[in-house]
Order: sequence, then structure tokens, then C-alpha cells
Amino acid sequence: MILHLKRNASPKERKDLLRRLALQGVQVHYSPGSGERILAAIGDRKALDAEALDKHPAVARVVPLDTSFKLANREFRPGRGEVRVGDLRFGGKRIHVMAGPCSVENRADFLAIARELRHSGATILRGGAFKPRTSPYSFQGLGEEGLRILAEAREETGLLVVTEVMDTRDVELVCRYADIVQIGARNVQNFALLKEVGRARKPVLLKRGMMTTVNEYLMSAEYIMSGGNYAVLLCERGVRSFDPATRNMMDLAAVPLVHHWSHLPIIVDPSHGTGNWRWVPPLAKAGIAAGADGLMIEVHANPDQAYSDGEQSLLPERFRALMRDLKKIASVLGRTI
Ligand code: PEP
Ligand code: MN
Repeated sequence: MILHLKRNASPKERKDLLRRLALQGVQVHYSPGSGERILAAIGDRKALDAEALDKHPAVARVVPLDTSFKLANREFRPGRGEVRVGDLRFGGKRIHVMAGPCSVENRADFLAIARELRHSGATILRGGAFKPRTSPYSFQGLGEEGLRILAEAREETGLLVVTEVMDTRDVELVCRYADIVQIGARNVQNFALLKEVGRARKPVLLKRGMMTTVNEYLMSAEYIMSGGNYAVLLCERGVRSFDPATRNMMDLAAVPLVHHWSHLPIIVDPSHGTGNWRWVPPLAKAGIAAGADGLMIEVHANPDQAYSDGEQSLLPERFRALMRDLKKIASVLGRTI
């Protein structure tokens, strides 16, 4: 449940409340930005006696939660919670576009595309160094060498970088290089990995799984947040459907639904969502229209030669044209890119 504390609660009353909660084995999380006035008390329902807590002198209001996700619930952070990544903020007026190739393939090409993407108005560079491939014989990523290239591109362009981590043993390594660590669709319910990034102090981009419901998805975010890492960005990237004509089925309704249930920002990835570069611009525009807080778009200078996901990668000039359209759409909606 969520407890709103009285503005004038004395330190003694607060201490007493926390002591009571601790005695009952209840976990306490303060809502960021609430000045320690809104807290989530998470524990056994029997231990949480709403009526008794409501009468406690430090408590102004008790909000029982009937959802399984608590920290991801909008009640925990009333309104839209902002997630900061360096100087950037997700969840506000500004829409951020993350762009780059599926994989970091080599230094020269990555630096070249990074420069190009900065000119087009992307604020975050993407590129996988650890790739979750269906076949063990496909390109698996450059590993730490790829991370070094990402860091060099950040140094040169000033853009921040997002890259995937797939293994608990690599979380520390990836956090050392990345500004945002990505948990891919295939690992959305890898609970050991979620717990590990929950202990990290780095923003996490958590992609929706290809068969997770929105509720299960928010529970995965809850795993990260319950470890104390509240900087979670969600990403709708399509779910499996009956129709192989597109790689996935983009669930754009998830965007307003997540905004209704949760304070967490959500971005849209039309590249993995559709699997075909032709459908990327229309679905990117639709994502913005649906209220997304950002986009993730794969761009490659030579898609036919890409090591992964070439068929869904936009050419840089197409990305540039798309950015021009997105700016217009954002402005109609009172937002900026
Ligand atoms: C990716 O971003 O390249 C990727 C593998 O995405 P997803 O996990 O959504 O398939
Ligand atoms: Mn990809």
C-alpha cells in the first residue's frame, strides 16, 4: 500500500511508523521527489493493517493497491515520473530518439554513423555489443571491444549510449561503459538479470517480451525497482502474433495503458516491432501520436551488409527525413524532439 505522511509529522512519529513497519517485515520505498512524504509499504497483506496505519499520527492517507506491481504503480509517483539519463529527462515534454545499428560491427562504421545520427537530431546512440541471436552460429557481437567503440562514439559526439546486457556476469562491465543498460525482449523475465540491474545505479531500458502481458511486463519493471533502481524506461517492441507478414505485432495501445497504470516512461521500437524498414516511419509516427516518450530506431549505412537486422534498418537519409516529420508531429502535440 501507499502511505502519504503528514507534512507536520514529527521525527519521532515517523520513526515510530518505520519501526512498526520494520517489525512486521514490511519493505519501505520512498517515492522519488516526494521529500520522503510518500512511501510504498510492501509486505504480507496480513502484516499491513490499513485501518491501524490510517490512525497512526504520522499518516495522512493510506492508498491500498489492488495491482501486483507497487513501485511501478502510478500511485507511488503521482503524475508522470521523470527518468533522468545524464542531462536528459524521459517522461517530460521532450521526446528522445535512440538510433543506431543493431550491432556495433567495427569502429570506423560506428563512428561514421554516430556523427550522422547526431546531425539528424538523435540524442542517444544504440548498438549491441552482446547480441541475443537465435542461432549460436550468427554474429554474437564484439563484446568489450564493442563497448569501447560505443564509449569512443559518445566521447566524440556527446551523445549518450544504450547497449544490451544479457548475462548477470557482465552487468558491471556494461554499466562501466553504457549510459543506459538494455534488457532485451528475450530476457524480460530473466529474474536473476533483473535483480542484478536492480542493484546497479544505472538507468535501465527494459524491452517488452514477445509474449509478456502488460501486467507481467510491469512486474518485470517491479523486479528492478524493488532492488532500489527506480530509473526504468519501458519499450514496446511488438509481441508475437499469428501473422508472419510482420516480424511482430506492435501493441501501440500499450503506450496509453502503461501511462494510465504507471508513472514509468515508455518508448516505442518500430524496427523490431515490424521487422521491415518500410513500416518503420509510419509506426514511429504512430508511436509519437500514441504518446510515447521516445523511440528506438535501427539505422545502418549499408543495410544489405549488416551483421544483424539489416532488413529493418533505415538508411541514414531516410532516418533524417523521418526526424523532420517527427518534429512536426511532436510540435502539434505540444512536445519537442
Ligand atoms: C535489439 O535492440 O537489437 C534487440 C535485440 O531487441 P529486442 O530485444 O527487442 O528483440
Ligand atoms: Mn536488432
